[in-house]
Amino acid sequence: MTKLCVPIMVESVDQALSDADAARTAGADLVELRLDRFTEDRDAAVELVKACPLPCIVTIRPAWEGGEYDGDDMHRVALIEHLGIACAGHGPAYFDVELAAYDRSANLRQKINLVVDHEDQPRRTDTGLILSSHDFETRPSDLTRRIAAMAGFRGCRVVKLAWAARSLRDNLEAFEIIRDRTKPTIALCMGEAGLMSRVLAKKFGALLTFAAIDGAHGTAPGQPTIEELKTLYRWDRLNADTEVFGVIGHPVGHSMSPAIHNAGFDAIDYNGVYLPMPIPPAYEHFKATVGSLLAEPSLNFRGASVTIPHKQNLQRFVEEMGGEIEPLSAKIGAANTLTVRGDGVLYASNTDYAAALDAVCDALKINREQLGGNRVAVLGAGGAARAVVAGFAHYQAAVTVYNRTVEKAAELADAFDARHAGLDAIGSAGFDILINCTPIGMHPNEDATPYDFTSNPQPATSTLPLVFDTIYNPVETRLLREAKAAGCITVSGVEMFVRQAASQFELWTGENAPTANFREAVLDRLAD
Ligand code: NAP
Repeated sequence: MTKLCVPIMVESVDQALSDADAARTAGADLVELRLDRFTEDRDAAVELVKACPLPCIVTIRPAWEGGEYDGDDMHRVALIEHLGIACAGHGPAYFDVELAAYDRSANLRQKINLVVDHEDQPRRTDTGLILSSHDFETRPSDLTRRIAAMAGFRGCRVVKLAWAARSLRDNLEAFEIIRDRTKPTIALCMGEAGLMSRVLAKKFGALLTFAAIDGAHGTAPGQPTIEELKTLYRWDRLNADTEVFGVIGHPVGHSMSPAIHNAGFDAIDYNGVYLPMPIPPAYEHFKATVGSLLAEPSLNFRGASVTIPHKQNLQRFVEEMGGEIEPLSAKIGAANTLTVRGDGVLYASNTDYAAALDAVCDALKINREQLGGNRVAVLGAGGAARAVVAGFAHYQAAVTVYNRTVEKAAELADAFDARHAGLDAIGSAGFDILINCTPIGMHPNEDATPYDFTSNPQPATSTLPLVFDTIYNPVETRLLREAKAAGCITVSGVEMFVRQAASQFELWTGENAPTANFREAVLDRLAD
């Protein structure tokens, strides 16, 4: 079973023991005591290892391998030897030593081998040796040689590799290394693109993954916190059969979608996990990366939310792969959902337009057919507006697009038999439904509004309009606040966000989405 290991940079015995205790309480299986800055007081190091409340890895990582130890090898090896002997019976579970150091010095090898378990070891010791290799810049060109070298040493119990992910595809190589292991293996990718290797280490049977005790104490780029692994990424539920989903975009670091979908999997007890999947702009990156994820059967990649800048790329990719495109999504020209069907056929669809329609219909307590004839004013002519206009026009609403750049308004309106005007014209317009699809009023510009209810207290309409702001941060924009004060029914962008995610979830799982959990997850994230 893959273990959860919390690295602790040791400053003092008390601090390290207190951190180790916190790690144990948070659910860690072991800790890595990083003695990089703590090599002078041998007795204190012995006391720490003996008193550690969890099994431990002892590491003294030199600066030349990305650590903070700047002394010579023999000094640190002497401490390792001392710990091995003085802690007999209560020793570390592992010593971690870099392949580069172990490989180049027979003397160092001999000293390390004296205190770790291997077939020629005459003394009884439970401490194993992790041989490790790190590259903080890129994937080492001799990765395969390094693996073979580590595994080939009789003293080596565990092979550990960590390198900076160049793209999501490097995670797949890490999984392959774990799958083809001849000894227990840790293979991790660093950086934002490497998160998948850290979370899915358990799915592929790695010896362990590392998780920071909190956001301030990670020891490598991209290391999640133990709280994120356990609560957000469902660590305890992951296994070889777990289905993998994600949000594809650039950037995706602040996406709320992982919080929503993972909460959904939890609520219905579904064996899935949802991860951020950053893919740089350009179709070639999208095609190569998504193609690789799909080509790895053991990954069990079943679908993705697709956001800026890849919504058009998804449609093109699915077309090229002979998959199916939802007809209205094809007309919109952008899809936001990839579903890998049971038979492996790809399906691209757009859940934004349906989410916008349903958010409005639910608030008005009508069905979509009853939208026919309603005058709908859409502010903006970008991606969100396109989905909204397509949806409302499809149900015969009388849509007018108002946009700062009038040419774009005209272009969008023409595609869906709608009307158009400049954004300024909204002040004198009449409408039954007003939908803001511009970012005006979005955090941090919360004082802004695309429609001033104080200077236009009564739109030229006999009944008060419904006002829908697609912005979800803040939950109540100035536009909505003033519309509500004027007596209008209002709908927040949260309602659209929750519904578009719910439709994705239903496509992927075949189950009803727990929308109450989704809403709670969004509101929790926005309140942070
Ligand atoms: P987009 O493609 O960049 O389009 C933005 C539109 O807003 C353009 O038409 C642009 O006009 C207009 N605009 C931008 N800044 C403006 C300003 N200062 N004054 C006047 N007009 C301005 O963006 P998008 O993807 O459509 O997103 C728009 C909004 O929708 C965002 O606020 C986003 O939060 C929201 N959204 C919500 C959801 C949800 O699920 N709730 C989903 C998607 C999007 P020009 O054409 O003149 O540049």
